[in-house]
Amino acid sequence: MTELTDLEFDLQHIWHPYTSMTHPLPTFKVKQASGVMIELEDGRQLIDGMSSWWCAIHGYNHPELNQAVSDQLHNMSHIMFGGFTHQPAIDLGKILLEITPPSLDKIFYADSGSVAVEVALKMAVQFWSAQGSLQKTNFVTPRSGYHGDTWNAMSVCDPVTGMHQIFGSSLPNRIFVPAPQVGFYEEWNQNDIAELEKTLATQHENIAALILEPIVQGAGGMRFYHPEYLRQAKLLCEKYQVLLIFDEIATGFGRTGKLFAWEWAGVEPDIMCIGKGLTGGYMTLSATLTTKKVAETISRGEAGVFMHGPTFMANPLACAVAHKSTQLLISQDWQGNIQRIETHLKQQLSVLVALEYVKDVRVLGAIGVVELTFNIDMQTLQQEFVRRGIWVRPFGKLVYVMPPYVISELELQTLLEQLVEVVQNMEQTV
Ligand SMILES: *Cc1c(COP(=O)(O)O)cnc(C)c1O
Repeated sequence: MTELTDLEFDLQHIWHPYTSMTHPLPTFKVKQASGVMIELEDGRQLIDGMSSWWCAIHGYNHPELNQAVSDQLHNMSHIMFGGFTHQPAIDLGKILLEITPPSLDKIFYADSGSVAVEVALKMAVQFWSAQGSLQKTNFVTPRSGYHGDTWNAMSVCDPVTGMHQIFGSSLPNRIFVPAPQVGFYEEWNQNDIAELEKTLATQHENIAALILEPIVQGAGGMRFYHPEYLRQAKLLCEKYQVLLIFDEIATGFGRTGKLFAWEWAGVEPDIMCIGKGLTGGYMTLSATLTTKKVAETISRGEAGVFMHGPTFMANPLACAVAHKSTQLLISQDWQGNIQRIETHLKQQLSVLVALEYVKDVRVLGAIGVVELTFNIDMQTLQQEFVRRGIWVRPFGKLVYVMPPYVISELELQTLLEQLVEVVQNMEQTV
């Protein structure tokens, strides 16, 4: 038997996100990453445009974050959270309560974004069941949403673009309303909320919560919608006795230009999920926050407790680095920095609007999106980006960037110049 190269082994044995094991897309082997530069094993250097899917907000291999992990490592890397607590969980909790909506008061630490969403959904059901409303078990959500890959998180993703339609009737049947249509920069139109109102009016007795991603619908289409949608949704939730869950897993920690996207509307949810940028991309950790009212109601219910407790709950290494990352973020002029990135994105991406096959170019905070009129050949485009020294991972009709906040002027300029050229050159292939 001939020895497999490492890449061949990977190709034959290791699954990557959303890939085939018979026709896997090629992968690039990373040797190390530092700041915004990703170094491949063959020595090629790539400017990171993705922040490892919203996570690495301070870039890679950050000295202060490394230090936080290493300090904690010498105390303990993990300890069970049943019956124990520890400094990193407490320090992180304090800083989170300072920066999240004032009405949120209780924190549940979980392993990943999807699990935080599961926890939020369970909280909502337990909240109503504790009050004897046993029928309020379903969820309503706008289309084009994305909330993760576990079972119930999947069930509230867009049934078509949410990548889960294959599961069909094995998923619980959720109630979908049209995605918000009025864009972030457009004039509000009250029609945008009409279907939600109708749905809540007729079905609220069976609905525990409305779950949505505030302002930016991420993996479901990179759509930016009007803050008034959130204000109206909140009013409707109050009117019809339905909890409001904000999934800020992608939008959190400054990405949209506010620390969290709810601030664009000034509307506070009953339950909020955070993740991704929470640890600065160092490791997996998420949290579900809720109000005193929800937490106390759950605790007064028949069960008397909230029914969830992951093995690695509040992992000390993850909490320590999350605390440091959050401190690092809020101790600097993060808002000015995001505005700097936003200005660049707007200036450099806008030339693409003129192209016939570009449907839309949109920018909010440190997110830049180019929407094409056709589905992209990811493999070809990915290779072209790498050849040009940038890391951009398109999906569907979208080429988009959300760089680490530490990206320099020059790096940002190069990243966007190369991206723009690649999109311009696509003309030859369409
Ligand atoms: C990524 C994401 C999730 C899922 O998080 P995982 O850590 O991948 O489980 C949930 N909601 C939103 C909005 C996300 O962007």
